[in-house]
Amino acid sequence: MPNALEVRNLSVSYRGGIEALWSVDLDIEQGTMVALLGANGAGKTTILRAVSGMLGLEQGRIMAGTVRVFGESLQHLPPHKVVRHGLFHVREGRHVFGEMSVEDNLIAATYARASKAPTSAFDEIYEYFPRLGERRKQLAGYLSGGEQQMLALGRAIIADPRLVLLDEPSLGLAPKIIREIFEIIARIQAEKRLSILVVEQNASIALKYASQAYVIQNGRVVMQGSAREIQSSETMSALYLGGGVSHGAPARTEQVLEAH
Ligand code: ATP
Repeated sequence: MPNALEVRNLSVSYRGGIEALWSVDLDIEQGTMVALLGANGAGKTTILRAVSGMLGLEQGRIMAGTVRVFGESLQHLPPHKVVRHGLFHVREGRHVFGEMSVEDNLIAATYARASKAPTSAFDEIYEYFPRLGERRKQLAGYLSGGEQQMLALGRAIIADPRLVLLDEPSLGLAPKIIREIFEIIARIQAEKRLSILVVEQNASIALKYASQAYVIQNGRVVMQGSAREIQSSETMSALYLGGGVSHGAPARTEQVLEAH
């Protein structure tokens, strides 16, 4: 069984010679959630863009390496064709259509499906996110931040993907809503056996729900391991979680901070 995602030796540059990633290796086993952690500007979003084919829209280019989604290279495909291969990228900032109703936002996302969406697919979304059901006729622009994030996730699910890329689902949301959203993500993941790559600044919530994690710093993977290993790593805690002084060995690591 191929991995949901297999990234090998990936290097990416943006126009103007900005090198954003160096030799990144990353794997997601089918049906698992993997967290991508790291500070602002580390390169997390760039990894998602390279996987979903959106680099070109940002004047970025893969300089070396390969990306395989369920064993297949999608690098030659434009983003709208990539979604038909079961990959959905929920970009940072939610990106719902504010002038359209909740329901029309969901309908618009069905373009990405290989087959027409049955009515039950919408009912399923409203079952996962009852608040969206209650507001189905309301304009998306009037939803709260948390509800817009739910709608962005609903749009991903209605597209019927196998691999979902989530860019900072917790951004700007209150802790209670963040927990609620991650609970629903975990439920959907388990029920649909989805594979998920989630970028998060909120490391503690991501490590609670993901099974594996990668820490990115200055365009490189500086640490990888099980969520538990990363959570308990002293290096991680000093580096990123704002914890105490680090003396211990990191979790399975690529020699953390060697380049700095
Ligand atoms: P954040 O959490 O702030 O989104 P990130 O870890 O996702 O950070 P990226 O957005 O991937 O980081 O950025 C990695 C590097 O690439 C940064 O140096 C950034 O300035 C640069 N970069 C990102 N997008 C572009 C772009 N469209 N054009 C030029 N440089 C870019």
